[in-house]
Amino acid sequence: MSSKIIDGKKLAENFHTQITQEVETLKKKGLIPGLAVVLVGNNEASKVYVRNKETACKKVGFHTKQHTLSEKISEKELIQLIEKLNKNSNIHGILVQLPLPSHINPQKIIDAILPEKDVDGFHPMNMGSLLIGKAGTIPCTPLGVMKILESISYSLEGKEAVVVGRSNIVGKPVALLLMQKNATVTICHSRTKSLEEKIRAADVVVAAIGRAHFIQGDWIKPGAIVIDVGMNRLPNGKLAGDVEFEHAKEKAAFITPVPGGVGPMTIAMLLWNTLQAAKRNQN
Ligand code: NDP
Repeated sequence: MSSKIIDGKKLAENFHTQITQEVETLKKKGLIPGLAVVLVGNNEASKVYVRNKETACKKVGFHTKQHTLSEKISEKELIQLIEKLNKNSNIHGILVQLPLPSHINPQKIIDAILPEKDVDGFHPMNMGSLLIGKAGTIPCTPLGVMKILESISYSLEGKEAVVVGRSNIVGKPVALLLMQKNATVTICHSRTKSLEEKIRAADVVVAAIGRAHFIQGDWIKPGAIVIDVGMNRLPNGKLAGDVEFEHAKEKAAFITPVPGGVGPMTIAMLLWNTLQAAKRNQN
């Protein structure tokens, strides 16, 4: 079997178009969705992510404000900025780019964001809502994974899904969302025994590990769906996923590439979450 390669860029573009149209309508009613992006320090990868997010915001007509702060800013000062943004009625979403310098506790910063402005979906209130199946903001990458599965009209009902990775921002929320769609979910991590065996039995594999080409192509069950969240920089500077793409694509029914798969959808879902936050605020 040779797989269909899912074009995450195109899918994201469709969301951008839809969001742009909604923003135009909202603007006529005097509402411009606003996103504040907070960047602390000089992490090169973070700078690129923030730039990409800002460009996307501008493209769909959002108001954005970037706060670029020194590496040396204290936790208290950062919380004070968040509190100011919480009160700013032109700002509907607040994004603090992670990682933060080691002297700042990221959880304290996330906790300081108003849950309704937490467009990353990392606040404990939003995480808790996801756990109990209540409406809330769903983290962007996991939401993007679900939209990708929807785009191929894949029914998860009764399917065996394996999520590799158990981080709070990707693995755990993805697993919960797959379970909500009635998949039988196995969460794997660095202590999992016989990962290969589990993947060989999976109808759906979501890889969120952070190790280039870790999942071998020949482990993939023929006809499986493979969603590769991993973004790993190779020594030659190129980006690679967690799945050995060239072999996996020969076995999967559908597979996401890296780059051009989950990455663009993560940004599209950030825009989506910000739009929803602005609309909620208006109501
Ligand atoms: P984390 O480092 O927080 O989590 C990685 C997970 O992988 C952990 O649960 C870890 O297990 C597990 N793991 C590590 N080694 C193995 C192994 N040998 N076998 C099985 N599991 C293993 O990463 P994130 O969740 O933040 O990100 C994962 C990947 O996704 C990264 O490449 C990141 O860059 C990418 N990413 C991409 C995004 C996008 O937009 N495309 C957005 C966010 C992330 P344990 O818990 O036991 O340590």
